[in-house]
Amino acid sequence: MDATSIPGACPRCARPRTAADARGLEWSSEHFADGTVVHTCGDCTREQLWRIEALLAPEPVHADARAA
Ligand SMILES: [Zn+2]
Repeated sequence: MDATSIPGACPRCARPRTAADARGLEWSSEHFADGTVVHTCGDCTREQLWRIEALLAPEPVHADARAA
């Protein structure tokens, strides 16, 4: 198991989600069709929000055409 797949930790920065975070409003939750719930910390949520507002894809893939 790697750090990004620990339930209760931010998938973007791996910050552990504490009980205080669970009670607060900083963290946002995202529910997927398979029942997975991912909690994103406040800092990363804000970073995602401006991407959404700018209609950008969240985290574009950087393809390096020269790799091959
Ligand atoms: Zn985060």
